[in-house]
Amino acid sequence: MSQIARHYIGGVWRNDGGAPDISVNPADGTDLGTFLPGYARLADEAAEVAKAAFEEGVWASSPRLRAQVLLDFADKLEAAKDEIADLVVAENGKLRAEAMGETMAGVSESRYYAGLARNIRGSMQEVMPGQLSLFHREAAGVAGIIVPWNAPVTLLVRSLAPTLAAGCTVVIKPAAQTPLTHARIMECLADCPNLPPGVVNSVNENGIEVGQAMVASADIDVISFTGSSATGRKIMEGAAGTLKRVGLELGGKAPALIFGDADLDLAAKQLTHGSLAIAGQMCAAAARYLVHESVAEAFGARMTAALGAVRVGPGANPDSQMGALIDRDNQARLMRLVEQAGDEGRMMLKGAPLDQGAFLTPTLFAIDDLTSPLVQEELFGPIVSFETFADEAEAVAKANATPYGLAASVFTTDVSRAMRMSRAIRAGTVWVNAHLRLFAEAETGGYGQSGLGRLHGVEGLHDFLETKHIFLEPGRV
Ligand code: NAD
Repeated sequence: MSQIARHYIGGVWRNDGGAPDISVNPADGTDLGTFLPGYARLADEAAEVAKAAFEEGVWASSPRLRAQVLLDFADKLEAAKDEIADLVVAENGKLRAEAMGETMAGVSESRYYAGLARNIRGSMQEVMPGQLSLFHREAAGVAGIIVPWNAPVTLLVRSLAPTLAAGCTVVIKPAAQTPLTHARIMECLADCPNLPPGVVNSVNENGIEVGQAMVASADIDVISFTGSSATGRKIMEGAAGTLKRVGLELGGKAPALIFGDADLDLAAKQLTHGSLAIAGQMCAAAARYLVHESVAEAFGARMTAALGAVRVGPGANPDSQMGALIDRDNQARLMRLVEQAGDEGRMMLKGAPLDQGAFLTPTLFAIDDLTSPLVQEELFGPIVSFETFADEAEAVAKANATPYGLAASVFTTDVSRAMRMSRAIRAGTVWVNAHLRLFAEAETGGYGQSGLGRLHGVEGLHDFLETKHIFLEPGRV
């Protein structure tokens, strides 16, 4: 497999940029293909093209056209699903089933927003007798989408589908680690016969110049960013100059609360997947187990056994149960954190690299110090902390003790407790007796430093729509 990922601007494939960069397979270190990193001027050009396409007005005022394009895009993605899933496995290292899952989630998301595109309604109010105020929901303009590497299909489509449904035009910047996957998705869009040129544009890069130019651009009205909280802060700063709207889907440190009455086998099963999906490189992965003292020993033994039994190996191998990390640098970073966890806590299961490739087996460590960076910071790998609590109040206090608030889960057979905990936890998503259940229909987003705004669901449209008040004076129009 050796391919070239190109930019896509104004309906034309482009291959201009800096010195070629390589997409590397993290499972075996082989080169997969190349891309030429873009630069600020190319981002500006893409934004100008997107603005001109928006100002033409046809796209923004044609909901049926937008729905048709989203349906066509879903069909093209579905037809290419095997090829796309193979690319995701090769570039990202995740399991084939995970890659196929995210590809089909993109298909579902696109179909969902195709429906919503035809159902964007404003409202009307008689504010004074005979005087009508119309509240029109219209496209916000040009949207810039910045995508991370950990789920290059679903995290792109999660922003792109509502953007297009709302009537915006778009500039996309994919992650440097997954350019080939992204280029194949762009081909699916380019193949949609009804997509007007300039509505969707994409510029590759391997640094931050293109992203920064998009955030600063006066031609871009909204930024939809998915990535780390540290970068999210920089995006907000960069957007201040033009006061553009920002949607931020940022980092997480999801706690899973396991109560004394929980079904421990169910919890162990859910959390093995919930912690190790994409080798733990998932914003909503269960990163902390908060366990009631009465079941700490029993649950600790179950999780140690369950995580220890996971077969780590290449994502393309059907026997693997957890794939590779994104690269060797992250493997080295995480191995240092494993050592730190052994120093600061009590090692229950110690992760280790495999002989070759960017692999790391799971780590579980017990820790009491809530202030430790191991508890406070997102580790973004297969490393989970094990903490205990005595009662509900302590469980909630510990669950809410980090700056993040993206997701959490509660394991209990008491429905009243499930509701009390779900209400008390400050997170955008709370799963009960489950972890990592995501749907196109269900809004996701963060409290605190996990982000701003929501994607998925009806609210996923909101970042990409403006509300305009039109007042009609009776008898004067
Ligand atoms: P990252 O923040 O390093 O990069 C994300 C993207 O931002 C990349 O495309 C990068 O090139 C670009 N970027 C970096 N600096 C920039 C700048 N100054 N201006 C503009 N663009 C810039 O994140 P990552 O390592 O690619 O992804 C992992 C992170 O993403 C984790 O923190 C994870 O929790 C988070 N994430 C969040 C969600 C969510 O839904 N909340 C989903 C997936 C991943």
